[in-house]
Amino acid sequence: MDRELLISAIIDHAALYHGDTEIVSVNTSGGINRYGYADCRARSLKLASALKKKGMQKPDRIGTLAWNNHRHLELYYGVSGSGLVCHTLNPRLHPDQVIYIMNHAEDRVLFFDKTFLPLVAAVKDQLKSTGSFVLMEASDEEVSAEYPWIEFYEDLIADGDDDYTWPDDLNERDASSLCYTSGTTGNPKGVLYSHRSTLIHAMMSATPDVMNFSAQDCLLPVVPMFHVNAWGTPYAAPLVGSKMVMPGPGLDGKSLVDLFNSEKVTISAGVPTIWAGLLAHLEASGEKLPHLTRTVVGGSACPPAMINKFRDLYDVEVLHAWGMTELSPLGSVNNLKNKHLGMPESDIIKLRENQGRPPFGIELGVFDDDDNQLPNDGVAQGNLYCRGYWVLTEYFSGDGGDPLHSGWFPTGDVSTIDADGYMTIRDRSKDIIKSGGEWISTVDLENLAVSHPDIAEAAVISARHEKWDERPLLIVVPKAGKTPDPAEILKFYDGKVAKFWIPDAVQFVESIPKGATGKMLKNALRDLYGDVLLAK
Ligand code: ADP
Repeated sequence: MDRELLISAIIDHAALYHGDTEIVSVNTSGGINRYGYADCRARSLKLASALKKKGMQKPDRIGTLAWNNHRHLELYYGVSGSGLVCHTLNPRLHPDQVIYIMNHAEDRVLFFDKTFLPLVAAVKDQLKSTGSFVLMEASDEEVSAEYPWIEFYEDLIADGDDDYTWPDDLNERDASSLCYTSGTTGNPKGVLYSHRSTLIHAMMSATPDVMNFSAQDCLLPVVPMFHVNAWGTPYAAPLVGSKMVMPGPGLDGKSLVDLFNSEKVTISAGVPTIWAGLLAHLEASGEKLPHLTRTVVGGSACPPAMINKFRDLYDVEVLHAWGMTELSPLGSVNNLKNKHLGMPESDIIKLRENQGRPPFGIELGVFDDDDNQLPNDGVAQGNLYCRGYWVLTEYFSGDGGDPLHSGWFPTGDVSTIDADGYMTIRDRSKDIIKSGGEWISTVDLENLAVSHPDIAEAAVISARHEKWDERPLLIVVPKAGKTPDPAEILKFYDGKVAKFWIPDAVQFVESIPKGATGKMLKNALRDLYGDVLLAK
C-alpha cells in the first residue's frame, strides 16, 4: 500500500499495541506522572484539536521551551501529527538568541515549563510572531494574577475535541520539526526536518547495531528534547514500544541514579558532561546501576576512561555515537561486527573507543582541502563529509549559506575512516592544531589528560607560538582537593603520544566555559589563553 511516512503513525502504533506501556514523567512542579501510550496519543490528539481551534494551520511553527516530560512528548506528536512544525528551543541560550531564533522561525505559539517563566516574561515583548504563551501546567490563579497573558496547558487539553482525527492531507515530505544549531559563531541556523526524514531516522535508530531499542527496554533520555530532538529517541522508543522515563529538570547525578534504579531503566543517552556528574555521584555514594545495560554517549568525544569506568565498575556498555543537528542527528554509532567476536579483549576495548560506523542511510567520506576523496584506510585524515536520507539540503529560510558541496554536507569535523567504516573524530576543523605544518588532535590530548588521576576536566587549545605558529596548551580543572604539578602532568604524556604533540604548558582553571548543549567553548578559551605562550 502506498502510505505516507508520518510521525502520527508512530504514536498510533504505540497506542494500539503498547497502549499500557508506561511513560513515567517527573513534573517540573514536583511529583511524578504515569500513564500509557494510549493516554499519550489521546492527549496529543486533543492538543492538536485545540491548536486547530486557535487557528494554527500547516506549516505554522509552534515553539517549546521545556524539559523532558510527558507534556513535551504530547507536543512532539500533537504538533507534528497535525501538520504543524514543532520547534524546540534551547532554554540555556542567551535571551537575545532566543529572541533571534523565535523571530526567525516566526513561532506563533510558545509552550514553556514553569522553570522558564522568567525567561519568557523577559523576551515576550520582543517576539514579533508569537501571539500565545502556554504554561505547561494546570491552571493557577496566582500565576494568572501576576501574568494575565499566560494560558494553561491543561485548559487547552480540556478544550480539545475527543473525536479529532489526524488530518488526511499530509505528505511525508511536509515539515514536521525544527531545530537550530547552537551557533558558537554567527547566528544560529535552522534545520527543518520532514516526517519522512524523521521516520527513516527513527526506524534505523532502533535497530540493533544503532541504539538497539526494543519493547523489553526502558529508556531514559537524559539528552534534552531541545537538543536535536533528544537524538530522535522520543520517536524511536514508541516505534518499538519501549517504556520511557522522562527525567524533568533534575539532571544531577543523584536524581538520575535514583530514577535509573527505581524505574529499572535499561538504556539511556546523553553527553559526556552529564555522565561525568553521574559517575562522580556513583563513586561518592557507592551506589551501582543494576538494571542499566547500555548508554549512548555523543555530542562531544567520549573519553576512553569514561567508557572503561562504565564497563569495569558498573557493567554498562557505552555506545559511542557521533552526530549533528544537520543530521537529525545520528551519523555513526560504535558497535562490533561478527568478525570481531573472539578478538582479544584489549583489541575490542581499543576498537570500541572511536565514533563507530554509519548505519544504512548515511554515507561518510574524508576529503582533502581540494575536495579529493581520501581512502578509508584508517590513516588518511581529512574533512569529514556526509550524505544520506536524513541529512539537510539547505538551512531554514536559506539563511546560513548553501551547506552542500558537490552533493555532500561538509561537517566541519576532521576524521579518519577505516576499511570497515569505523570513523574517528580527530577534531573540529576550527579547533585542530597545526604546529610547524603538522596536525595535532586536541581530542586525543584531552582524552589522555582526563585519564590522569588528579584531573577532573581538560581542554586543549591551539595557542599562538612565535616559532611553530601554533602549539597545544593544556587547560585543566583539577579534582577537588588536588593540586597536581604541571611538569608531572606533562610527563604523563611521555610515551603515549608523539613528542611534538605534548602541550607546551598547563593552565589551571576553576571551570571550563560550556555552551548551551554542554560542549566546551574553545573559542572562549582561545580568547582568554591563546596568547599565553607568546608572553613567555
Ligand atoms: P553544534 O554543531 O551547533 O555544536 P551539534 O550538537 O549539532 O551542535 O554538534 C555537532 C558536533 O558535535 C559535531 O560536528 C562534532 O564536532 C561534535 N560531536 C558530536 N558527537 C561527537 C563525538 N562522539 N565525538 C566527537 N565530537 C562529536
